[in-house]
Amino acid sequence: MLSRRPVHCFRPWSRKFISSYLCRTPEPASPELAQLLATHAQHAPQPLTLGSLLSLGRPLTSESILASAQIVQTEMPRRLAMRIRSLEGLPFIVGTNPHIARILEGFRKNFLWSASYPPITNIEENSVFTSQLENLVRDHANDIPTIAKGFQECQRYMSAEAISSFLDAAIRNRIAVRLIAEQHVALTHALNNPDGLQDHLGVIDMNLSPVKMLKMCASFVAELCEASLGASPSLIIDGHTEARFAYVPVHLEYVVTELLKNAFRATVERHHSGSSTSLPPVQVTVSLPSAPPSMSGLAQITSPTRPRMLHIRIRDRGGGVAPVHIPHIFAYSFTTAGRNAVHALADEDELDGPYAAQHVGGGAAVGSDLFGEIAGKGVQTGMGTIAGLGFGLPMSRLYAQYFGGSLELFSLDGWGCDVLLKLRCLDHAEDAEI
Ligand code: ADP
Ligand code: MG
Repeated sequence: MLSRRPVHCFRPWSRKFISSYLCRTPEPASPELAQLLATHAQHAPQPLTLGSLLSLGRPLTSESILASAQIVQTEMPRRLAMRIRSLEGLPFIVGTNPHIARILEGFRKNFLWSASYPPITNIEENSVFTSQLENLVRDHANDIPTIAKGFQECQRYMSAEAISSFLDAAIRNRIAVRLIAEQHVALTHALNNPDGLQDHLGVIDMNLSPVKMLKMCASFVAELCEASLGASPSLIIDGHTEARFAYVPVHLEYVVTELLKNAFRATVERHHSGSSTSLPPVQVTVSLPSAPPSMSGLAQITSPTRPRMLHIRIRDRGGGVAPVHIPHIFAYSFTTAGRNAVHALADEDELDGPYAAQHVGGGAAVGSDLFGEIAGKGVQTGMGTIAGLGFGLPMSRLYAQYFGGSLELFSLDGWGCDVLLKLRCLDHAEDAEI
């Protein structure tokens, strides 16, 4: 039985806090690392489009796998070098934060591995490289909650704008690096197992059902909401329920999970009900907008049945956002959750002082792939958080915008919210830059 317990507080006076800071002052880069960094940071990342990444799978051959490995070997070190440089450029006091120091350490390790790995020249070498790459991606599954915690603790040392532009760039960079790495891993698996995942072009599901995804995420969120708040609303899905579109499932999973968590939490908190049945349902509408007239020509002929955009509206009756909060809801770390609320953790979570605070991920209810952590579901010991990091909205918007979509929240103060998610279908987004 999961009990409600306060979120971990970072107690600046505790011995653990002080010793963690003392052991985590940022290490300067080793001479070998500094040399490699200087070399790679000279080169800006190559302009890489979704189309060029996808073309490697059409058709999938040994040569295209080696070309994909080469992209990983060129792009990963360059992009990681950029991140390391920007982490090293943070104000010193921010760099001493144990969570942020740990992230820098991780980036340096990955960078060193990727920058010093010998060039891949055949499929056998690629197999070894890919399995190491897979482990590396998995090892960093909990980075986002760690970064979130770090910046939550450093709010007083940087302006909101500086934090926001640092995190936007850092998270965009992370999405890109993971996409490049994951695409390579997925293509390598597809070459070894051609009968594997049908309808997939690497990490992209060409035939993704938003309704299936919504139901899967809703069942996880409902469980989390019950465990945290004692009740959860039901979900109604209507509109174009048969719709299918091309998208990266893990990106959709992250966004939908975060938006449902917000809608469910607002509903339960607003209606203060001990019983789930008396709560107003959360209503989700899926819509395939019709193609604009200007697209009736070539685009319709080449792809008469494939949608260009998919819209999802999530409507709740959770009372909306107070007008005073509206300007802040897309700011990182902004939350109205409070430090003692809405956390559903198992007992083991209170293990390790400040470090335990990063384990805000939880159960394995949704998603089993390497990206699972981004929805805050990476750790086995607890259920996760329904709210409290203040990363759900800003990160969901980044994900939506990544391929050219959008995310807007409309609040009817005193009644509820409509969140409008517009996603570009990826078979029409070859020009999107990675
Ligand atoms: P968190 O959920 O961790 O607080 P988010 O970025 O997801 O962080 O949301 C930030 C804040 O925006 C929430 O704390 C809440 O105050 C407000 N918010 C977001 N979605 C809704 C909603 N559907 N109804 C009411 N308030 C919302
Ligand atoms: Mg949230």
